[in-house]
Amino acid sequence: MNKLNSFILTAILFTLIGCSKSGSLTEQEKITEQRIDSIMSQMTLEEKVGQMAQYTIDVIGKSAGNGSSVEPFQFDKAKLDTVLRQYKAGSILNTTNNKAQTTETWAFIVKTIQEIAITETGIPVIYGVDAIHGTTYTASATFFPQQIGMAATFNPALMEEGSRISAYETRASNIPWSFAPVLDLGRDARWPRMWETFGEDVYLASKMGIASVKGFQGNDFNNVDKNHVAVSLKHFMGYGVPVSGKDRTPAIITESDLREKHFEPFREAINAGALSIMINSGIVNNVSTHADKRLLTDWLKNEMNYDGVLITDWNDVENLFLRDRLAGSFKEAVMLSINAGIDMVMIPYRMDFCKSLIELVNEGKVDQKRIDDAVRRVLRLKFRLGLFERPYWAVNEYPDFGSPAHKAAAKLAADESITLLKNENNILPLKQGARILVSGPNANSMRTLNGGWSYSWQGEKTELFASEYNTIFEAIKNKFGESNVKYVAGVEYKMDGQYYEENAPEIGKAVAAASGVDYIILCLGENTYCETPGNLDELSLSENQLALAKALQKTGKPVILVLNEGRPRIIRSIEPGSKAILQTYLPGNYGADALADILSGDVNPSGRLPYTYPKYEQGLITYDHKPGQNMEGKMEGAYDYGAQTSVQYPFGFGLSYTTFEYSDLVVENKEFVSGDTIRISVDVKNTGTASGKETVMLFSRDMIATLSPDVRRLRAFEKISLNPGEIKTISLTVPADDLAYVNEKGKWVLEAGEFMLQTGNLTEKIVCKENKNWETPNK
Ligand code: BGC
Repeated sequence: MNKLNSFILTAILFTLIGCSKSGSLTEQEKITEQRIDSIMSQMTLEEKVGQMAQYTIDVIGKSAGNGSSVEPFQFDKAKLDTVLRQYKAGSILNTTNNKAQTTETWAFIVKTIQEIAITETGIPVIYGVDAIHGTTYTASATFFPQQIGMAATFNPALMEEGSRISAYETRASNIPWSFAPVLDLGRDARWPRMWETFGEDVYLASKMGIASVKGFQGNDFNNVDKNHVAVSLKHFMGYGVPVSGKDRTPAIITESDLREKHFEPFREAINAGALSIMINSGIVNNVSTHADKRLLTDWLKNEMNYDGVLITDWNDVENLFLRDRLAGSFKEAVMLSINAGIDMVMIPYRMDFCKSLIELVNEGKVDQKRIDDAVRRVLRLKFRLGLFERPYWAVNEYPDFGSPAHKAAAKLAADESITLLKNENNILPLKQGARILVSGPNANSMRTLNGGWSYSWQGEKTELFASEYNTIFEAIKNKFGESNVKYVAGVEYKMDGQYYEENAPEIGKAVAAASGVDYIILCLGENTYCETPGNLDELSLSENQLALAKALQKTGKPVILVLNEGRPRIIRSIEPGSKAILQTYLPGNYGADALADILSGDVNPSGRLPYTYPKYEQGLITYDHKPGQNMEGKMEGAYDYGAQTSVQYPFGFGLSYTTFEYSDLVVENKEFVSGDTIRISVDVKNTGTASGKETVMLFSRDMIATLSPDVRRLRAFEKISLNPGEIKTISLTVPADDLAYVNEKGKWVLEAGEFMLQTGNLTEKIVCKENKNWETPNK
């Protein structure tokens, strides 16, 4: 039987069998494993190694010179033969020419690849892309706020819906695998990937991560249906806290923090069924994660029994050799990473990977069992995604691509993400008929609203694709009337330069335009960047932008500062002169409409900061810092050794057009032991005149512990809607074991003693009545 026929038979057999549970594997899982056994028993070493190889699409495209492909995309037959027939690559990633494609082009690309792969090996290729805040590389896809904005909604249901829609639109592009969500913690404002994260808090990132996994993969990760895709959690782990703040530079993380903070969101998302994980490009405690057998094999595969795929990040095997000097050659780097537990290598250009790995196996330097483990995982993922039955499909099976309902979901997410940070004398909302000057480099750009991972890697091609959506200036014009609104940028980005480059400022023009207006809406922030090109040397907003703000504030017209930035750039010197401040983060294609609705009062803002907004460059701190990082009291006597760290705005901060009052905090079980659930209720009342949404957050504080405890930790939250005068009793629960911490040996410990719970302005003392030490790595 030739490979094509055997493939068809496999597919038919597979679809005929049901999926009842028996033992630890379901019937369907058992059958899948048997199918994998059967396929693997016929595979050569070359075919197996091929399954572990992932190439970028442009290596099989007809070249237009300089590493780019001709447009429209065409395959290069010779290169296709090399990658798919000679090396039998199991996976392809990325878009061509670093530019979004239509769903029709995607259908053509994927179908061509699959037909060759199936004829050659009987095994479909798995195509993966970065579907980051929507289907990044598909024209007309629905774009949501970037993850940092989604975190600010404090609304996991919106996250789940956003991921569901992204999954659908990714499938509509014939792609079954997304390299998302990012579960690195955004704990350093300098890091250029801050906006790709759910912010600084472990609990929020975990809840959003779980929601995203569910939204992307649907309810059955063993049987991902045609509307869902596999996730790749990334970047496992500790990527977000490089000592220098610069991308892909070394991090130093204590054993406690590694497990208690950085691992948790991954652990939770894995338990929610995440099907693959991408590895951290960086170095933690002097070990490149791609060579870290302890983290990859011990923590993930052994401790967690993880049966999904571990994929490298871009070129990171080569990095072990060329960058980190852990290996003397590419081949040695391949050996280190595969032996550490990598299952698939995002190569993405080198043609010597397969040859190197085959040699390593033949030389006994990589065990055949390791190869078999990796290939089994890759095939399992392909079965779980139904690729053996349907390696490609028709675009018209996805009529809801870019539908009004998808757009409405993205708009709602933007509404709930935008965070009101200041509103002096309730200057907002603005009255209809107000005469407005819109100014600043972010005022008239779809590119800056979306950020990186938008139609291209760095987001620089957005204006080519997003002309149907509104910039801030356009949305404000639509809302307040064309004749009432004018726009003078004052400062502009150099759109063909680096993200931090600006043209010669024209501040005088903006100041002149301010005469005759009632308000100035000043839109500052950052141009788009992604990953390492977004590194910075100074966290403050640019000098030009600060000068523009100061000049406009000097006019005496009330300045409403709108921030449109991927990370919290320091605004200390212009904050006092701003009458209102709104953080939009990177809100996506509907961000400006959402902002205009908030400015006019049609939407009441409800976003909350998912990070601590720093005030000083030397004051980078997270809300869950140690007591000594910001002493609450002054030391007695003549000498004061207590460090103070002031911040611009704390984690969780965000105003509303109404007010909320908290009362009657009741803790049902004030004394507890390990295994208990602490049950809390609190009344929240809308005491203002507008309907509004409030995120009720519950924090804990460990009063005394053997290792200096974090001053506060978020333990639960719930977002509610309240009409004026309405009261709701909110019940929250905290598993007592969530109050445990990880000690210096990497073990979880719950210590007897007092904890403080806090919600709103209310606190309550609770007491743990026993010590509990976990001997297992996870609770
Ligand atoms: C990034 C990943 C991304 C990958 C594939 C890398 O440069 O670090 O986040 O998934 O490229 O595009």
